[in-house]
Amino acid sequence: MNHFEYRRNLLHAEDIPVSRIAKEVGTPVYVYAEATLRRHYEVFSKAFASHYTAGRASICYAMKANSNQAVIATFARLGAGADVVSEGELRRALAAGIPGERIVFSGVGKTRREMAAALDAGIAQFNIESLPELEQLNEVALAMGRRARISLRVNPDVDARTHAKIATGKKENKFGIAWSHSLDAYRRAAAMEGVEPVSVDLHIGSQLTDLEPFRLAFTKIGGLIETLRDEGIDIRHVDLGGGLGIPYAGEEPPHPDDYARMIQQTLGHLGCDITLEPGRLLVGNAGILLTTVIYVKEGEDKDFVIVDAAMNDLIRPTLYEAHHEIVPLWRAEDTAPRRPVDIVGPVCETGDYLAVNRPMPKLSAGDILAVCSAGAYGAVLSSTYNSRPLVPEVMVRGGHYAVIRPRQSIEDLIAMDVLPPWLKSG
Ligand SMILES: *Cc1c(COP(=O)(O)O)cnc(C)c1O
Repeated sequence: MNHFEYRRNLLHAEDIPVSRIAKEVGTPVYVYAEATLRRHYEVFSKAFASHYTAGRASICYAMKANSNQAVIATFARLGAGADVVSEGELRRALAAGIPGERIVFSGVGKTRREMAAALDAGIAQFNIESLPELEQLNEVALAMGRRARISLRVNPDVDARTHAKIATGKKENKFGIAWSHSLDAYRRAAAMEGVEPVSVDLHIGSQLTDLEPFRLAFTKIGGLIETLRDEGIDIRHVDLGGGLGIPYAGEEPPHPDDYARMIQQTLGHLGCDITLEPGRLLVGNAGILLTTVIYVKEGEDKDFVIVDAAMNDLIRPTLYEAHHEIVPLWRAEDTAPRRPVDIVGPVCETGDYLAVNRPMPKLSAGDILAVCSAGAYGAVLSSTYNSRPLVPEVMVRGGHYAVIRPRQSIEDLIAMDVLPPWLKSG
């Protein structure tokens, strides 16, 4: 459920006609509904409070999905923790008011500097993805006179049945410690002075629309925890990652209640506290991208609708063949004729499209479109390719909105570069 809907045939974000935002802020622009962010967080946290009874459940928002400070601060006020994957994200989380003890640090390539920053911040746990990383953290922690709480991210080698570029839990993916090495890795960790293995971690992929891959992976993890306990490595915590999918085009992903019940069924007997790292689920359907039609070009076989948003603003269609619903701000009559068109941006790349062969009502220059479900992996993946300034972001709350990232100016964009001395004069 989200808070973007037609009222009197005009698309609204909560109580604001989005045409007003398009007019006042300009397009392209990302628009987030605060009520949807809040609602998704509450539905997810209530699911675990009601259906996971074996221990405590902590929700660490996977910030890489949308790391605008206003989005993080919204979740921070609701009590969320954060899953971070870089020092930049760590500092963003702290700046938004998430305390260190609610932060977990994931990612395959943490540097010494990042490890030290996270130890300084007193984070809850490092999710370690290789033996060299484990050894380095041990050294860094010892040098600082600390003991780092860790989890080993294991790769359970299960097929998440999602797009290949967002599957992370098969042995051919770079993520996690190979399943057959995981027991040995825990033995090594248990013998180290600078780390304390307290948890097991996994994350098998993103946009999963079926519980079965999760169930398979979590069952394997349960077995590993029992083996570890038999060896005297007393694991009382498990981090289950994120990955629960959202509807983009009529998919029916499992409800968080069913996800929580399944976790209770597969892991409840172990009595562990758990950490969950939802990203997309919390923010995906809380955002839209507004874009204006610049031209409609007739082709021989099909028409091209050229809009002012491009792959540098939203790369998901290009990168993941992702489907985003695209709707006009004025609702088209159900009976209005629709023709398949390509909706493309101005960037000089054949892959620059938002939709291909998409049936749309008749569109003309100046019409504004909303690209739906763009709150996750949208603005965070934007770039300035073709010297297009970074797209602005707006958050709506009831009948008000605030610009939460202004549009970058072309002057600012140029000023990021520095001429070497020999090019400065003359
Ligand atoms: C990306 C990621 C997540 C979030 O995934 P979603 O599909 O957005 O829920 C959680 N944990 C880790 C380790 C990740 O890399």
